[in-house]
Amino acid sequence: MTKMRNKENFTFAFPEGIYLENQGSPNASGTWNTGLDWVQSNDPDAWVAIIDDDDEWFENHIEICSKRMHGNDAVLSGIQILVDGKVLEETIASNISCSDFYAGNPGWQGSNTFATVRSLIEAGGFDENLLCTNDRDLAVRWLSMTENRIGYTGEATVKYRLESNRECLTMNSGLGKQTGLLQFFNKHRADMSEIDVSNFIQRAKMFDVDEKWFTISGQNHDYPGFPRAPMNIPKGIVGAFRKMAIDAKKSYWRWRVRPLPTKIMGAQFTRSREFIEIDITYDCNLHCLGCNRSCTQAPTKQQMEVEDVERFVKDSLSKGIEWKKIRVLGGEPTEHPDFEKILYVLGEYKLEYPRTRIELVSNGYGKNVARALLRIPPFIHVENTAKTSSQGVGFYAFNDAPIDNKKYRKSDFSNGCSNIEDCGIGLGPGGYYPCTLAGGIDRIMGKNLGRQELPESDDEMRDLMAEFCKMCGRFQDRKYLPAWYRGQGDPSVQSQAWENAYSQWRENNG
Ligand code: SF4
Ligand code: SF4
Repeated sequence: MTKMRNKENFTFAFPEGIYLENQGSPNASGTWNTGLDWVQSNDPDAWVAIIDDDDEWFENHIEICSKRMHGNDAVLSGIQILVDGKVLEETIASNISCSDFYAGNPGWQGSNTFATVRSLIEAGGFDENLLCTNDRDLAVRWLSMTENRIGYTGEATVKYRLESNRECLTMNSGLGKQTGLLQFFNKHRADMSEIDVSNFIQRAKMFDVDEKWFTISGQNHDYPGFPRAPMNIPKGIVGAFRKMAIDAKKSYWRWRVRPLPTKIMGAQFTRSREFIEIDITYDCNLHCLGCNRSCTQAPTKQQMEVEDVERFVKDSLSKGIEWKKIRVLGGEPTEHPDFEKILYVLGEYKLEYPRTRIELVSNGYGKNVARALLRIPPFIHVENTAKTSSQGVGFYAFNDAPIDNKKYRKSDFSNGCSNIEDCGIGLGPGGYYPCTLAGGIDRIMGKNLGRQELPESDDEMRDLMAEFCKMCGRFQDRKYLPAWYRGQGDPSVQSQAWENAYSQWRENNG
């Protein structure tokens, strides 16, 4: 509907105009780049002028700029900056350099961009991954290209409008401005002199950005993440042999978790003291078959509060625990209304332990999630699983409870599985568990057994594994198996124990 209205309004106002839909990221950069690509493919020698919907050109803006085109690749006019409709200042740019853009914006905004499409595209166009400062970023890259020539009109012919009562990225409110400045700093730090750095940080302080965040804006020294294995499906005899090898290992592991071998050899896996995963919400915009947090089978908006994460950080710091990896998940974590605040709370931990790798794991599905992912501060890694549907491709059958499987029924479930070593312990709305899946299972079973305090280092959490692993389909895999092997089964399978558990949950939750 909105798209239709936009198009109708545009066509009414500009009957000769060409209406394009954004083909890039769902932000201003994606829109501008869509326009640049169109112009380049239709007239590669053209000049481009850009105007935002809330800004305004003087009537003679294009005419004045056009007079300076000859011998140049861009022309900069001056800008009037208006706050709530009143002129605050007038910026007339001249002889600008990259350093000027580190100290602020000397007068190149989106709405006074007037340049050859060739030079804008050669500079790389607008960065679709930056939350704000897109114009400054493009200007720096454009000015770094020594062959580019710039002319100045010397007069203000653009009105740049700000509103004090709107949470606008270019005003001093919300976390967006802070994150945008950190992203810009992270991107350009290597090319900045020490004076540039100092100027940039001084300017950022005007937007209430605490200097401390710049000390962790990069990720170069973080502990490593999971190695990512491509989903190569082995074929023919090789594939048959590899499948047989995994089947054989699984047979051994199945025996290994029987009570007697467990008694003799001890538990197969030990819960991590270095890695933790946090399910900040069970709300999700996707409804995958066999979701291992039951977001599809038992939907809820249950979430952790910011204070819960603050308590985790405080406890970790007071106990002197150095987490190598903290992963933020869900549900879809960006569905949490305070996910940005939560990331900055975890940033407070990283200030103390700068090598800690903090990751946000997102399904990357849909425009809203894509927009939210732009708001991630640069000290957080993003693992975008880029799901394209709810089919659960490569999922194991989470709801195939081993307690319902005669091959596993007699296992000692306190063995857990490799998740407790590879992914780490779990924290969610219900408290701490040996893994996040166990927390998700407890949500359905309603036993409320999560530890309410950060577990002591001698707490193996075996009682929780004994209780929850018997329901978890992952128990039968034992270790991380390649996706082509995992994906052989039907992720939507629900064994009897799960049918009962969901039916009870529905009864209890209306
Ligand atoms: S995206 Fe993840 S959390 Fe959401 S339904 Fe799918 S598997 Fe569950
Ligand atoms: S079997 Fe499931 S609940 Fe148990 S440790 Fe593994 S992933 Fe967690």
